[in-house]
Formats: sequence, C-alpha cells, structure tokens
Amino acid sequence: MKSGRIIKVSGPLVVAEGMEDASVYDVVEVAEDKLIGEIIEMRGDRASIQVYEETTGIGPGDKVVSTGYPLSVELGPGLLEHMFDGIQRPLQSLQDQVGDFLERGASVKNLDREKKWKFKALAQVGDEVNEGDVLGVVDETSVVKHKIMVPAGISGKVVRIRDIEQTVDQTVAVIEKENGEEVELNMIQRWPVRQARRIKKKIDPNTPLVTGQRIIDTFFPITKGGTAAIPGPFGSGKTVVQHQLAKWADAQIVVYVGCGERGNEMTDVLMEFPELIDANTGESIMKRTVLIANTSNMPVAAREASIYTGITISEYYRDMGYSVAMMADSTSRWAEALREMSGRLEEMPGDEGYPAYLASRVADFYERAGRVVCLGNDNREGALSVIGAVSPPGGDISEPVTQSTLRIVKIFWKLDYDLSYKRHFPAINWLDSYSLYQDKMDEYFDKYVDEEFSKNRIRAMSLLQEENSLQEIVRLVGRDALSEQDQLKLEITKSLREDYLQQNAFHDVDTYCSLKKQNKMISTILKFYDEASRALDNGVYIGEIEEMPIREKISRMKYIHEDDIDEIDKIQDEIMEEVDQYIKGGKQ
Ligand code: ADP
Ligand code: MG
Repeated sequence: MKSGRIIKVSGPLVVAEGMEDASVYDVVEVAEDKLIGEIIEMRGDRASIQVYEETTGIGPGDKVVSTGYPLSVELGPGLLEHMFDGIQRPLQSLQDQVGDFLERGASVKNLDREKKWKFKALAQVGDEVNEGDVLGVVDETSVVKHKIMVPAGISGKVVRIRDIEQTVDQTVAVIEKENGEEVELNMIQRWPVRQARRIKKKIDPNTPLVTGQRIIDTFFPITKGGTAAIPGPFGSGKTVVQHQLAKWADAQIVVYVGCGERGNEMTDVLMEFPELIDANTGESIMKRTVLIANTSNMPVAAREASIYTGITISEYYRDMGYSVAMMADSTSRWAEALREMSGRLEEMPGDEGYPAYLASRVADFYERAGRVVCLGNDNREGALSVIGAVSPPGGDISEPVTQSTLRIVKIFWKLDYDLSYKRHFPAINWLDSYSLYQDKMDEYFDKYVDEEFSKNRIRAMSLLQEENSLQEIVRLVGRDALSEQDQLKLEITKSLREDYLQQNAFHDVDTYCSLKKQNKMISTILKFYDEASRALDNGVYIGEIEEMPIREKISRMKYIHEDDIDEIDKIQDEIMEEVDQYIKGGKQ
C-alpha cells in the first residue's frame, strides 16, 4: 500500500497526508519503528491518527503506512494467566512499559509463538462446519478448556483434522469451501475490536453472578450477562469493589482492565491474585483470568484500545459458552482520553468538553454485555457481565460520563464519600443504589437459596429506609422522644449496617460470604428484632435489650467460617432463650 507522510505531531495525535487510499479505523504503522495507530478521521488525503504508543522521537516527514485492517486482537490459547497492555502486547510486569524490555511497534507478537498446545479434535473429517462451530479443544489452563472455533466468514467441509500438539500458528484443520478452495486453520483468530461479535440472539439473564459481597448479592444483585456501574469519588472504594468481584464472582472467566489508573493497583493484582484459590475449582484464580493494564503512565490513546481489547477478549470466551465477567477501572479515564483526542481534532465540544458521541460510545460498549445464544451448531449459551467503575470529579454524578453510563447499565452501585469517611465499607449507598434485575433474582434466590430470602431482604431494606426519617426525629427532638419500638428499630438498623452491610475486604473470612450465609445472617438479625419486640411487649426495657450479651455474637457472625455456618442457626436459638430469660427476670 502507498505510504503517506507525517505533517504534524501533537501528543498522541499524528496527522499525515498522502493517505487517500486509507479509511477511518484502519490501523497504520507510524514512522521507522512502526508505532501502532488508528485513523480516527479522514479529510481528503489527510488522516488524523491516534497513536497507541509514545510518539516521542517521531516528526514531520516520517512515513505512515496503512495496513488496510481495523484494530484487532489476536485470540487463541495463551490469553489466560497473562497480562497485556492496551493494544494486547504481553507484559511480564508493569516495568516493561518503561524499561527496555518491550519493543515498540508492530513487530511484537501478542500470543506466545513458542508454547505448544495439545489440540484435541472434536469435529471430524467430512463434517460441514460454519462460523462458530467448535473444531476442537485445548486445555488452556487446568480449569479452562479453550474451544477452537471456526472463524468468521468461513464455512465448508472439514477435509483434514486430527489430535496434534503444536504452537498456535500451525495448522490444526483444513476446510474445503463450497468453491473448492481449501483454507488452513490454526488456533489463532483475529477479531476487530470496535465491532460487537455476531451472536444468534440475546436472551434475558436469569441467574445471578454471585459476588460474595453481601450488600451486592442481597440488595443490588448482578446477573450473568448484566451490566453495572460503580461511580464514586476518589478513595470511596471503586477499585476494591472491582478487585473483590474479580476475586470472588462465580464467573468462569474474568477479564480485568486497569484503564488509566495508578500502576500500583495493578501491581497489587499481580501480587495477590496468583495466591487466591477459587472455591469452585480449587485452583489459583489466575487460571481463569486475563489482565489488561493501561495504567496512568502509559499512552493516553491506548486507554480506548484497552477497553475494546478487554471487551473483545471477553466476547471470545463468552462465545465458547462461558460466563465471563469484565471489570473496567475506570471508564472515566477512557472518556477523558476521548475528550483529549476530540479536543486535539478541534471537534465541536459537547457537555463539559466531552465529544458529542460520548453517550453513544458508552452505550455501544455496554451493549456488548448480555446473556446470549452463541454462533455455532450446538446452541451453546454464554454470558458476559460488564462492571465499570466511573470516577466523577468531586463525586458529582450529574457529570456526563456517569449520566451516559447510568442511562444504559441496569445496576447502579453508588459509592458515598460520607460512608467511606466513616469507614463504612463497602461504601455502597443502600438508599440510592438499585438493580433492575432484582425481581428476577428474587425468584432465583427464593428457589435455590432459601424460600424466605427475598422476604428477609425486603423487610431489612424497608427498615433501613425508615431509619432515615427516625434519625431525623432524633436530630430534632432527641432519642428519648421516640417510642421504645422505634428506638428498637434504630438498634436493628444499626445492626444491619454494621453487622451485615459492612464487609471487610481484607479479612480472611469476611472477604467472601456465600448466599446461604447471607440469608442466615440477615434472618438472624431479623430474628433478634422479632424477639426483642416480644421482650419489649413483655416489659423488658430498651436499655436492657441494647445490652443483651447475644448481640456480641450477632456482631461476630460475619467472621464465622463458611464450613461452620450452622453455628448461625444456634445463635437464633440462643436469642430466644436469652429473651425468655429477660422476660422472666423482669417479671420476677
Ligand atoms: P477508589 O478506587 O474509589 O479511589 P479504593 O478502592 O482504592 O478507592 O479504596 C480506598 C481505600 O478504602 C482502600 O485502600 C481501603 O483502605 C478502603 N476500602 C475500600 N473498600 C473496602 C472494603 N470493602 N473493606 C475494607 N476497606 C476498604
Ligand atoms: Mg481506584
């Protein structure tokens, strides 16, 4: 292809002329080092290019060559357990980006070309196959079978396939197309990142993505295939929530994208994740995890690429029929990169300087989540949940990025500065947050966890809602103005907040709470409420109830190990006994 010449370099933006053969979204190789860029605007023969690598050292006159292809990711075995940068180059550590290790430019291979994989053929010679059909599998890690699928645009008869051990770029199958042409397929596919992968159809999510985080699962549940936003000011716990989900959510595959945030957070991930054991598989959670790191010190333009790289890898595993969860921390940094590029292109600015297409970009991104029937003859189902952190400046959620996100996602976990200041973690505001999947999940929880699950949840939430107005009265006229029943209510809501909603991500046991344990805990607190009401009715003073020794045990329920959760039932019995004693004591 004919090459053009750079006429201007402005940070990550490069303008080249003589590019009349190229089109918008073509990937280009910039200058001697073949830095990777993407055309984001064409005017006549002038291409505006966002460059995904450091542009230092390049300047006017340098050559630009269009590849004619859109920005794509390389998909195949060797993604799991690895970390990549925004344009999917392998990172051994975060030092790579600044050190000499990582070469710049197009010569870097994404997937390991040395490693050999055992391909087990599932299709047979003579089979007619189409896009999405499974040809064979590879044990990518000890817990994930990687399906090798027929790539887009290919269909025909299998003329050669067999079990074989080899590298990703060697042929595993040969397909004869209808026109007689033979195509050799290896284990690699390249998918354009800006395009949602084709599916058969979307279906309604019907199962929870269990996170082990009490406030989320009980009150604001997310589904396999659901979308959630976590807006919150600096330090309110967005990253901790994302990490908790990456660690504990019962997804089969996790894709974690660190976008424009501090590098040390990704270092934490790298230190911690390999040590953590997935309860479902008994293996390290890294065996099912892909990390994408485009931290704040890396090129700004690649933030957008990191988001698209992440969602495309997620779709790829979803297409194998897995439930995938993708976390993006933070989507605001992506939006800021869009704003910066838009400014450099001198586009007409929209709200707060963000480009007018911000909302549609955000919507297109979250639209790629969902529970689907995948392409392929076996009608397999896959699900992709997307959880995006949003960092509104000053925590003001009326700003454009939060607003355009909330318009599309189904779940809103609102993090509060006030709660995090009081060290109430997770600092998810229980009055403002919502999940539009709740009704559907009630059915599931009542059926599979406990028939009282949703009843308990509704009762606890209505108490928490009442708490606000009761506290208002206390502020105005003091606690003694409340009836003893109302004072008891405040005791119970305090218990709900401290003994239930608060959950310490850094405590060995408390960090994860199963649905069964969640139900036992909440029903115990409600049991205490009922029993304490009975005590009040029988003449016990509210002051005595506040001092009951059993309350210590209630506050320590969260530290009861998952193997011992029947202990929580015993606490319920003890509550009744203790209340009986108080009632007797009072009457004596
Ligand atoms: P953000 O990403 O919103 O800036 P972080 O996720 O980094 O905030 O959280 C800031 C700090 O808040 C953490 O370093 C931790 O000390 C505390 N924190 C947040 N969530 C929890 C939690 N669930 N349990 C304990 N501490 C938490
Ligand atoms: Mg953070």
